Formats: sequence, structure tokens, C-alpha cells
Amino acid sequence: MRTLITGGAGFIGSHLCERFLAEGHEVICVDNFITGNPANLDHLRGNEAYSTRFTFIRHDISHPLEIDGPLDNILHFASPASPVDYLRHPIPTLKVGSLGTHNTLGLAKLKKARYLLASTSEVYGDPQQHPQTEDYWGNVNPIGVRGVYDEAKRFAEAMTMAYHRFHNVNTHICRIFNTYGPRMRLDDGRVLPNFMGQALRGEPLTVYGDGSQTRSFCYVDDLIEGIVRLLFTDFHEPVNLGNPNEISIRDFAKEILEISGSQSPIVFKPLPQDDPKVRRPDITRARQLLGWEPKVDRHEGLRRTLNYFQQKIRGN
Ligand code: NAD
Ligand code: UDP
Repeated sequence: MRTLITGGAGFIGSHLCERFLAEGHEVICVDNFITGNPANLDHLRGNEAYSTRFTFIRHDISHPLEIDGPLDNILHFASPASPVDYLRHPIPTLKVGSLGTHNTLGLAKLKKARYLLASTSEVYGDPQQHPQTEDYWGNVNPIGVRGVYDEAKRFAEAMTMAYHRFHNVNTHICRIFNTYGPRMRLDDGRVLPNFMGQALRGEPLTVYGDGSQTRSFCYVDDLIEGIVRLLFTDFHEPVNLGNPNEISIRDFAKEILEISGSQSPIVFKPLPQDDPKVRRPDITRARQLLGWEPKVDRHEGLRRTLNYFQQKIRGN
């Protein structure tokens, strides 16, 4: 199979490249490095599959892309994903969610390829239903600072369903909930790299607000398994993929101090605008449709990720 992955030099995208190469696919990775890093693909070098079945194209997918030959699968993962990143790049975020989605759907139509959109729990905004099921329409502020990401992804979902309904493209939508693991950027501003970097450097852990807001963290290997299963179904409606194990941000900070053995203090900083107060996926649909649920518990996932950041900080 020939599989194109946009955003393949990012955190999740790099794990997808690795997985599809391991499954024997020819992988075409497209990225413009706006938030990604060529080093995320370094571990693939030296692997025989890399020289024979891997192609990298440096390209901004908000502009059309032509690919020679057939394509079996397209996974559209290009987009800044950390709030700090998308606040820094508001217009590229809107463009990659809208124009980038349109371009990749056009390519999927042309090549009769399977298509999978990386959507997000942010389509639920600051949710008034808890936990979130796929039939909840969400509570998003379109003109707030996070609107550039949330509305781009909501548009992307609408465009994906239109290509399915109108052009009969074999589309899939996964709504990803906070995912973490090796190859996240230490400085991407998300809570886990922030807390781990701070704990390892002996700096204070910065909890925003009073830390009572909740998130539910999924280890990347579990997510990748869910994505691969979803791609090969005939199901076209959105599917939540995430770990339902919910924790407050204050307790998460304590957990990271405990796992790292750090003596860093916790300090409280202002809560960013429109920060969702709760978030937890209802994964009934993924369980029934894919026979999928997360396997890596948070303690184990955090340990593996801490190990990765330790090596990064030591410069290995
Ligand atoms: P990331 O920033 O590490 O990766 C995104 C990649 O997309 C980067 O390599 C970046 O350079 C690339 N990119 C961005 N705009 C591009 C463009 N116009 N053209 C080409 N490449 C472009 O983020 P991530 O956490 O790996 O997220 C990947 C995808 O998953 C995103 O679409 C994100 O919205 C979605 N997602 C992630 C999470 C999560 O918890 N990590 C949660 C929900 C949704
Ligand atoms: N957060 C925090 N300290 C930080 C970074 C983030 O307390 O240094 C909080 C943030 O306000 C939010 C949660 O942690 O409530 C998760 O933030 P993140 O940026 O990881 O992603 P989000 O889930 O908001 O998209």
C-alpha cells in the first residue's frame, strides 16, 4: 500500500510514519516544519525500510500538492496542535484546517484513496456535556483566541463529511483527546512537556488557574492503534480516541513531581482564555466499532515519556 501522511514530521505523525513502514507500506511524508522537526524522523534512518519505502516532501499542504502514481491512504495530520503553537500561528492554523483539508480531500478523490482526518476534542470547546460523546455538538467560542484551531477543525469535519456524502470518498474522522509520548517538543507549551521540562530542570511547575480543570491523557501507542483500526473500517462518522482516565491539572503536576523525584515547587499562573474546564472522552463507540481501548496506564506512559525528555535534556 502507498500511504501519504501530512504532518509526518510532528509528534503523532512521526509515530504514524513508523507504524505504516513497519506494516510494509510505502510512506510519503509531507511537512513544512512549522511545528515539526526533521529530527523526529531520525530514528527511521538506518532502517532498511527508510531508504526503500520512505519519501519526504517539504511542502505547505495549504497549497495544492500533486503526487505521481497511486495512493491507497491519506492521513491528514498537519496542523499546529498545542495552544501556544496555534496562538503563535493563527492564520496558518486556519489555513491548514480548511485549505489543507480541502487539498488532501481533493487528492483522496482523485486517487480513490481512503482518507482519515485528525480532528480533536476541541470541537467540543468548553463542554457542557461530560464525558463527551460524539453526538454532542460542542460549546465553542468562534471569535475567542482558541477559535482559530477549534473552528478550523470543525470546518475540516464538515468538509470531510461533504466529500464523503457528495463525492463518495471513503473518509474517517478521529477526534483525538490529549495524547502524549516521546517526540513531543519540550517547548511546545502543552502541559505535559512544560511540567516534565520544569521538573527535570528543578524549575517551578506552572499550574494555570487553580488547577481544578481536568484532562484525560492517552499514550501515543494506544492512539496509533486506534487510528490504524479506524482507517480500515467502513464507518464515516467521527470516533473519539483517547483515554477516559481523567485527572485534574493540579493532581497531574503532583504526579509528575512524584514520578520524576523532583523537588520543584508548584506555582499558580493565570488561566488562559476559554480554557476548557473538563475533558474526558466517552469511548463507547471506539470500543464497539474497533474493539479498541487504551492499554498503557498513565504511570507507565509518563515513565516512558520522562525517559525520553531526560535524554533530550542531556543532549542525547
Ligand atoms: P505537532 O505540532 O507535533 O505536529 C503537527 C505537524 O504538522 C508538524 O510537523 C507541523 O510542522 C506540520 N504542519 C503544520 N502545518 C502544516 C502545513 N500547512 N503543511 C505541512 N505540514 C504542516 O502536533 P501533534 O500533536 O503531532 O498533532 C498532530 C495532529 O493531531 C494535528 O492535526 C492535531 O490537531 C491533532 N491532534 C493532536 C492532539 C494531541 O493531543 N497531540 C489532540 C487532538 C488533535
Ligand atoms: N496548563 C497548565 N500549565 C502549563 C500548561 C498548561 O496548567 O504549563 C493547563 C492548561 O491551562 C490546560 C491544561 O493544562 O488547562 C492542558 O493544556 P494543554 O496546553 O496541554 O492543552 P489543552 O488540553 O488545553 O488543549
